[in-house]
Amino acid sequence: MTKKLGFGCMRFPLLDANDNKSMDFEQICHMVDTFLERGFTYFDTAYMYHEGQSECMVKEALVKRHERNTFTLTTKLPTMFLKEEADNARIFMEQLNKCGVDYFDYYLIHNLSVKNYAIAKRCNCFAFIEQMKREGKIKHTGFSFHDTPELLDEILHNHPEIEFVQLQINYLDWDSESIQSRRCYEVACKHHKQIIVMEPVKGGSLAKVPKQVESVFLNADPHASIASWAIRFAASLDHVYMVLSGMSTYGQLLDNTDYMQNFQPLTSDDCKVIEKAVTLLKSDTIIPCTACEYCVEGCPKKIAIPKYFALYNMEKQCDGFSTQKLYYKNLNQYYGKASDCIACGQCVQSCPQHLHIIEHLKTISETFETE
Ligand code: SF4
Ligand code: SF4
Repeated sequence: MTKKLGFGCMRFPLLDANDNKSMDFEQICHMVDTFLERGFTYFDTAYMYHEGQSECMVKEALVKRHERNTFTLTTKLPTMFLKEEADNARIFMEQLNKCGVDYFDYYLIHNLSVKNYAIAKRCNCFAFIEQMKREGKIKHTGFSFHDTPELLDEILHNHPEIEFVQLQINYLDWDSESIQSRRCYEVACKHHKQIIVMEPVKGGSLAKVPKQVESVFLNADPHASIASWAIRFAASLDHVYMVLSGMSTYGQLLDNTDYMQNFQPLTSDDCKVIEKAVTLLKSDTIIPCTACEYCVEGCPKKIAIPKYFALYNMEKQCDGFSTQKLYYKNLNQYYGKASDCIACGQCVQSCPQHLHIIEHLKTISETFETE
């Protein structure tokens, strides 16, 4: 039986925390090898991860070092970079080359939303991936999605040929009004699609929960990691085929592969523990950013939006002494400040979480830029 844990290649360990391209090759090889030794096979990368270098790292750490039939490789067509139909083939061939393979097991149209679905239609992306499938260069076609259940329903109705969808599902977003994980899951089930889960730990925020939430989990099971509750929540859903985890350390990989080796779905008592955690978390997280970085690319002021949001959330969860302001000032050496925002709205259009980025940046500026 397929093991339900996939290795997300968007948060590889770094040698320099301020340089997203400085991936730690040796540690990544060690992680890849252990992942495969433990019987897991699924790897998920994308054109844009690690500033365009994740696919190259996959080639070096995975493809060159392991037999092609021992792993499943997934990547994505970056709708956000497409200008015309010819870009499909150009980028796809570049991806085969960067990854060092002659086919992808799973291939997705990346990050469909109202805006990107319009691009996908204009550039004939759906017809392109079906053609690649007929040519044997793609085994299974799908798309990742960050928008309303109504739009998901429309796309799946228009494209019954699509085999799977990748959805953001985690226990905090399950019933959230902005993300609507549950309703999107239900739409995918209605269309009988395989579901792959992204952001089960919500960009890491469900692994580092506030103290009172941590106590809820540790009281229920002192041996289970906090992240394991989030991954198991997603994996327990019947129609979920795979849960992706963007692992950044060897320790995370060991933990994830431990409890997912012989996966046990959540019991009804476990579900009550999660319900309690959700109630506490909803009263605590100020800005629910997943650190996907989709907003960063187009910002004319090079503002480190997700980094500032993470600092702000930490600041609000801190009792007493905090070093967040110091970190903020350090980041200002590399990136634009929150107050540099000119409210152009580029980032808001790209944000799959529909966050009020401009307003949040004003608050962050008031919090960290005053003496
Ligand atoms: S609205 Fe502000 S943060 Fe967003 S892209 Fe424009 S300048 Fe950058
Ligand atoms: S603000 Fe939105 S787009 Fe930017 S990193 Fe956070 S969730 Fe992603």
